[in-house]
Amino acid sequence: MIELLNISKAYQQKKEFLTVLKPTHLSIHDGEILGIVGKSGAGKSTLLRTINGLIKPTTGEVFVDGISLFSLKQKDINRMRHTMGMIFQHFNLIHSMDAYNNIKLALTIGHYQDDIDSRIHELLYLVGLNGKEHRYPNQLSGGEKQRLGIARALANKPKYLLCDEATSALDQETAHEIIDLLKEIQQKTKVTIVFISHQIDVIKDLCTRVIIMDQGEIIEDQPIKAIFTHPIHPKTKSLVHSLTYEKPNDVIAYELIYDQKNSGEAILSTMIKIYHVDVNILFAKTLKIQEEWIGYLYIEIHGDDLKKAIQYLKDQRIEVSLYA
Ligand code: ADP
Ligand code: MG
Repeated sequence: MIELLNISKAYQQKKEFLTVLKPTHLSIHDGEILGIVGKSGAGKSTLLRTINGLIKPTTGEVFVDGISLFSLKQKDINRMRHTMGMIFQHFNLIHSMDAYNNIKLALTIGHYQDDIDSRIHELLYLVGLNGKEHRYPNQLSGGEKQRLGIARALANKPKYLLCDEATSALDQETAHEIIDLLKEIQQKTKVTIVFISHQIDVIKDLCTRVIIMDQGEIIEDQPIKAIFTHPIHPKTKSLVHSLTYEKPNDVIAYELIYDQKNSGEAILSTMIKIYHVDVNILFAKTLKIQEEWIGYLYIEIHGDDLKKAIQYLKDQRIEVSLYA
């Protein structure tokens, strides 16, 4: 388990202090896949780099498995860092080394104790690069480069895998292949994953829990399904709307969110019959969150019994809110 207690980071710029991370508390539990979402500049990378000791926070403490990271000597911080693998947006591979030697270097630096050659082949197989061990990074596609990045990050069997925009340089299809690979690896190895992205659609397929960051602050922290069915902060809502329906300003709509158990159609026609309301459907969308389908329906409702009609929907366990 990783615990951040009251972590903040400020940089001195001329005579002023620029706070890029406000005091933050966060616990990362073993075996979870935590997503960190936010716009560029929100402080995501700063937060991640305090976790592996690359950035020393201005205030607060980081505990990794109960050990206070910054009370350690530099050489022990470095050793602790080997329990954490890291993958990057631009892969950070050594271009003068082939795939085999890129992985070997990580094992050597990590003082790997067992048979290095068989570990390298095991890793190449795990990430789907078997047979490509003698390719140099410039002979690999973007997706293959990231597979190599993952193999290298996992070389020393880390307990934590930290991913900073790991799919942001890839096309959508390749990004999803990498997401599937990370899910498969997590199931096999139980590695705890922290995955930063500015892309909420990538996060929704991978993560079990999501924190949303904005201007150096965590503004929301929820299990993945709740982020998509009960978003609380307006910025979280607008992230969800970026995948469902971005309403024109002059329209006042109701947003209905429902899951497989209460598919909207029959409930809507019953509501119309009982309460004699007029319904105009503006937009409908379904999203697959992990293995579950969530429905989003955007409607205008008019009629004298509007309030009762909406209460009826809520009684059917449909999430209803005004999208003004
Ligand atoms: P994100 O990863 O969410 O895009 P970062 O954590 O990289 O955001 O950066 C957050 C803010 O901190 C940005 O405004 C960035 O310019 C600033 N920042 C990052 N590193 C430094 C630094 N070494 N000195 C001054 N400002 C920095
Ligand atoms: Mg970043």
